[in-house]
Amino acid sequence: MLLDVLFSVRCAGCGLHGAPVCPGCSHDLSCLGLEAAVRPGWTAAAFRYEGVARSLILGLKLRSLRPYALPLADEMAAALHRGGTDARWIAWVPARRPVRRRRGFDQAAVLAAEVAARTGLEPIEALRASDKLDQVGLDRQARALNARAGFAATAPPPAPGASLVLIDDLVTSGATAAACAERLLAIGWAEVAVLAACRA
Ligand SMILES: [Zn+2]
Repeated sequence: MLLDVLFSVRCAGCGLHGAPVCPGCSHDLSCLGLEAAVRPGWTAAAFRYEGVARSLILGLKLRSLRPYALPLADEMAAALHRGGTDARWIAWVPARRPVRRRRGFDQAAVLAAEVAARTGLEPIEALRASDKLDQVGLDRQARALNARAGFAATAPPPAPGASLVLIDDLVTSGATAAACAERLLAIGWAEVAVLAACRA
């Protein structure tokens, strides 16, 4: 079953059957790597939002190609190993419910689960998105205001002084992730480090 899924998947770069990124395109992907290191209070991203990395994100988001999360998560896990966070929990910036329903999954949650599997961090559903949140077409300042209003932190830290890593698929202005981190700090999380698959 898993093999069927992997065999039917096509390379995000060139369309070759058999893997989310074929050996030839994996070189192109690694050239987009940002050598990021995850640190508390910072926003790190694994790749530049271009070429194969961009195709992986778009396939994951718009075509529900779940295996496209795998090569992104590999580099995100590497960014965690390079960084200095002692977080034990991993959360994600949630998609709105209508988007999740349309896609069949929450792409940031899928990325968080894959990063968790590679790092031993414990996934925790820590945020809820308002159904009304839509950032498309807003300028930077409006995005920041809208983002702050659009999320609620729902899971307090399981232990005092606990830190978490917050996963997002794509950061642009960083306003959404920053607003989510603010919400989490406000309910008692000691430190939040943001880790995105790509930075636009
Ligand atoms: Zn390829």
